[in-house]
Amino acid sequence: MKAAFLSGPGIIEIGDCSRPKMGPEDLLIKIKRVCICGSDNHIYNNTEIAKSKVKLPFILGHECSGEVIEFGNEVKGFKKGDRVAVEPSSFCGKCPYCLTGRYNLCDNYGFLAAPPDTHGAFREIISHNYRNCYKLTENMTYKQGALVEPVSIVVQAFNISGFNINDDVLIHGAGPIGLMTLMLLKTMGAGNCLITDINDFKLKTAEKLGADFTLNPMRNRLNDIVSDITKGRFFPLIFDTVGIQKTLNDSIFLAGKNATIVIIGISDEKASFDIVDIISKMLVIKGTTDFVNCFPKAIRLISDKKINADAVVTDSYNFSDINEAFINMNKNGKTIKTVINFDNI
Ligand SMILES: [Zn+2]
Ligand SMILES: [Zn+2]
Repeated sequence: MKAAFLSGPGIIEIGDCSRPKMGPEDLLIKIKRVCICGSDNHIYNNTEIAKSKVKLPFILGHECSGEVIEFGNEVKGFKKGDRVAVEPSSFCGKCPYCLTGRYNLCDNYGFLAAPPDTHGAFREIISHNYRNCYKLTENMTYKQGALVEPVSIVVQAFNISGFNINDDVLIHGAGPIGLMTLMLLKTMGAGNCLITDINDFKLKTAEKLGADFTLNPMRNRLNDIVSDITKGRFFPLIFDTVGIQKTLNDSIFLAGKNATIVIIGISDEKASFDIVDIISKMLVIKGTTDFVNCFPKAIRLISDKKINADAVVTDSYNFSDINEAFINMNKNGKTIKTVINFDNI
């Protein structure tokens, strides 16, 4: 069977790989769609990570959907032909974190396409524990199935945010996660939503998807408009899907008293920040990673059309053109989300 291997920084090659082994609790899943995540692109581009943290050749990809073609003898509730979204995590179910319902912090946590050597989903067939697979509803496409993962990231971030109806919200970053955060907030009854990005194409998309205000910090100063947007209160809630020094500093400055800042985005940057502001405003700064029990909620949000997940997909490629997909994603500035189609391997 075929797989797409990252063989060095910026080099993806299609080659043969062996069929995955299936344990008693595993489903064998014929992959149908995989979206490229920012983290895949980060490993693809980053010479240091690709050389030192990942054992090459390496198979990327963790936002995936597919069809069940076989299952182990202890699997319950699935049959051949079922269409599933794959929750890419694996966890032990026994450590203190799993036992207290926080399996995203599991001491023995695993994830598809996690360095150094857990291969991901850019291949014809994967094997995955049935407990981490979720059936798509009849009205959902495989493309939407692959988008359940990033929607789940957003659901998790929302769940820990302490959101209140009519909260004015600042979102840093109009990439897939920022845009999905915006859509979820609007569905849940947010007040004014301001979204920032340095890419005008992404800001235009944010406007179409319901942003009340957009701002490009390369051109305009955030401080000048925030007081108007929040009627002088500043923001009670901020989502940072970028995670750099500048967005963190802006968040701390623009947060209202006792506001919550949820950090979803990651970068390699170290950041320093104003401790006085954090203390005097009693800010709550929360990191979030992956998801806990969010897949069923994300599936329902997509299926009930509460989130238009398709709206973030700008590019689609056949598996045979995956190399081109990565190259274009990095050069045209108009790619928000790319989906890889496995129909014609
Ligand atoms: Zn992802
Ligand atoms: Zn555990």
